[in-house]
Amino acid sequence: MRTAEIKRRFLAFFEANGHTVVPSAPLPAIDDPNLLFVNAGMVQFVPYFLGQVAPPYQRATSVQKVIRTPDIDEVGKTSRHGTFFQMNGNFSFGDYFKEQAIALAWNLATGPVAEGGLGLDGDRIWATVYLDDDEAIDIWHRQVGLPLDRIVRRGKKDNFWSMGIPGPCGPCSELYLDRGPEYGKEGGPEVDEDRYMEFWNLVFMQYERGPGADKENYPILGELPAKNIDTGMGLERIASILQGVDNLYEIDEVRPILDRAAEMTGKVYGAHSGHAANQSHPDDVRLRVIADHVRTALMLIGDGVIPANDGRGYVLRRILRRAIRAVRLLGWNAPALPELLPVARDCMSPSYPELAEDYERISQYAYGEEEAFLATLRQGTVILDQAVANAKRSGGQQLSGDQAFTLHDTYGFPIDLTLEIAAEQGLSVDQEEFARLMTEQRRRAKADAQARKTGHADLSAYREVLEAGGKVEFTGYHEVSRESRVRALLSGGNGLAAAEEGETVELVLDATPFYAEGGGQQPDGGTITVGGGQFEVLDVQSPVPGLIIHRGRVVRGQVQVGEDAFAEIDVTRRRAISRAHTATHLVHQTMRAFLGESATQAGSLNAPGRLRFDFNTPGPVSASVLHDVEAQVNEVLMSDLEVHAFITSLAEAKSLGAVALFGEKYGDQVRVVEVGDYARELCGGTHAARSGQLGLVKILHESSIGSGVRRVEALVGTDAFEFLAREHLLVSRLAELFRVPNEQVAERVEHTVTALRDAEKELEKLRAAAVMGNAAGLADSARDVGGVSFVGTEVPPGTGANDVRTLAQEIRGRIPAAHPAVVAVAARAGGKASLVVAVNGAGRDRGLSASDLVKGALSGRGGGNADLAQGGGVPEADAPKLLATVEALIAR
Ligand code: ATP
Ligand code: MG
Repeated sequence: MRTAEIKRRFLAFFEANGHTVVPSAPLPAIDDPNLLFVNAGMVQFVPYFLGQVAPPYQRATSVQKVIRTPDIDEVGKTSRHGTFFQMNGNFSFGDYFKEQAIALAWNLATGPVAEGGLGLDGDRIWATVYLDDDEAIDIWHRQVGLPLDRIVRRGKKDNFWSMGIPGPCGPCSELYLDRGPEYGKEGGPEVDEDRYMEFWNLVFMQYERGPGADKENYPILGELPAKNIDTGMGLERIASILQGVDNLYEIDEVRPILDRAAEMTGKVYGAHSGHAANQSHPDDVRLRVIADHVRTALMLIGDGVIPANDGRGYVLRRILRRAIRAVRLLGWNAPALPELLPVARDCMSPSYPELAEDYERISQYAYGEEEAFLATLRQGTVILDQAVANAKRSGGQQLSGDQAFTLHDTYGFPIDLTLEIAAEQGLSVDQEEFARLMTEQRRRAKADAQARKTGHADLSAYREVLEAGGKVEFTGYHEVSRESRVRALLSGGNGLAAAEEGETVELVLDATPFYAEGGGQQPDGGTITVGGGQFEVLDVQSPVPGLIIHRGRVVRGQVQVGEDAFAEIDVTRRRAISRAHTATHLVHQTMRAFLGESATQAGSLNAPGRLRFDFNTPGPVSASVLHDVEAQVNEVLMSDLEVHAFITSLAEAKSLGAVALFGEKYGDQVRVVEVGDYARELCGGTHAARSGQLGLVKILHESSIGSGVRRVEALVGTDAFEFLAREHLLVSRLAELFRVPNEQVAERVEHTVTALRDAEKELEKLRAAAVMGNAAGLADSARDVGGVSFVGTEVPPGTGANDVRTLAQEIRGRIPAAHPAVVAVAARAGGKASLVVAVNGAGRDRGLSASDLVKGALSGRGGGNADLAQGGGVPEADAPKLLATVEALIAR
């Protein structure tokens, strides 16, 4: 049965049983600051389970895209772990519970194929339950008829679920299928989890848990008033079972990628492996890793993740790099993604058509990342190989943390790769030291940014404020000041009743005109007057959706919770920010017009009078395109279009052609901002009322900020005008200095630079001639040192290295060839002394060697041959000593 068909059956079965079919949320977990990616079907329903939001339905079903990075090391080595997979799930919010959840799962799993079921053999199914969950055992045994010897009690680690924070928790029951003796040992899930493969987990949310960091020990506060069901069935796992293949890398949605990789690298998949995953040949494991990771990368980029050095982007980067390295270990050295990614697309687009539509953008990121990584690999491997060789030569078992850090920091060589390569060579890496260096670097970089953003990762204080008072209304779209009430005061995660003059606190109002930083737009500034007290707003953030906090200082009097307040934003700042935001939309739209639809926004900053706009495009944008973009944007300003915002459904917005951004999660109702008919975008920001208010947009420059991502910066309004005025002043000043009209400044500068360069070259020539001119005199001054003519001399500072060498040879040439001769020339440059030694034929016949003499004088450093050699790197003051040493060595 094809994977898409299993998915269809799953949803149809639960829909027929009263469940609402809910689409998958995007992979990035946007609403949860503690989670990078959605890792289970229940994630998008968390607010319902926590009772924060009333569920719009009592039963739901979904097939959720998920990423589980902790499983990355299992990929290919077990038969059942993917980094990306799809989780079928059914959910009950205070509706049915244990009994019906078990019955539904059993009926779908064992129901006849002809009647829409999955047709599993019930005699091969095992169930696990939590230690004391006798109720579940009873249901499995008495109602379903599962014999007791196929029901296994397991402990908290495996069969008790909680989110790690106060809230619902409860026992689980998992369904396993016995795949038969060729997959491993007899004895049930506790003996072999690969033979007995878990395919479905049923979670019974029945209790409420208290706080506690420990995974297994936390207080259970009591029964939940409304009990919930959350289940997860791995679509790939059930597909591998129903398709009769050994593991989930061999199912219809994955296997073609694996086959293409085998074909490219000339490997025969499975030729040397048994059915059980632990009997796999390393090459087969690599092929599976490739297939899994390429598919995962496709899905991640498809959902708007782009390669980066931290966060979600780093997960993607790591997965892509692991895939690329696995291909290379199989002997393929050319770019591999152009071969593999289209296969993954063809596997997945029947279920996710947007992957095919968006393939150009997706592939640009993937291919660009591979090219960049191959370059890094070439560079880093040489250096790493050297470090490995050095470590081995000196009998070491370990690469230092410092070496690993330099590789990472200077050459962009990822630590996991360093670890892998070192391990292949039988070496370890001092990871503690590496981690220390990394933390140090990170601390330096983040100290600043951190202080400004939400100070502490524990959001529970904010959640409490939100729960106690409901959503904070943002009224700043249509007003700049308003009356409200101080709902709460917070400091370091603790509530306060009052704050005194001079204190820095977070202040929450019931409603506010202050815009919280978001969507690239900088926060508002301003003041909040409370009774006799005054609060200066320095930052505004939304740490949890629905809550707006003002961060700032009490500048006068006292501020108390419950008091009436008057909030007033800094209108000048807001206007300048709004102008920048509207300008960003215009730049975005115009870039797309010039560079194609795929030039979508990848990030932005809207600050007072200034914007930064990051967008996706494979290469640099030429100066002429930038100029045209700027001209067109300014033309739109002059057309003085009306800026209009309205709320509509997501579907309607899309049909209007509104541009949605990746990585943003939109609800059913969205806000659309349009600038006349020119630009239309989903946006929650504030804007100018008409494009004419922007006055002027000046694009400053364009640069690269990562593979496939470019950045333009621009000034808006007064800032743009002031910039141009300054530039004009500068050109006028230069024109004055050069005594030419403004238009001729460039030409004159060019001319002057050329003339200067010519003069420098001339000077160098003269200096060299002067040095060479001395050659004859120096040859004449040769002294006899133990039967050898020796010349030792130092050249004037600044003589080029080439000239020093030529001079040494020149002097040597002027000493009669029959006479053994050694010429030593010392030079100083950049605080260091260097030495060149030349020996003639007769000298070499006497056993003298230029290279030995240089090495002798420089304690082993230096290079060359018996005829001519050089070296350096010692302190400048040692120059005379070098000559003396050479002389002493000859005399010996
Ligand atoms: P395992 O112990 O086998 O890793 P799990 O206990 O981590 O599984 P759950 O967290 O209960 O799994 O997830 C629910 C279902 O999702 C599992 O029953 C399984 O079918 C599927 N699943 C879990 N992890 C993966 C994975 N890495 N790749 C594919 N499917 C998975
Ligand atoms: Mg797991």
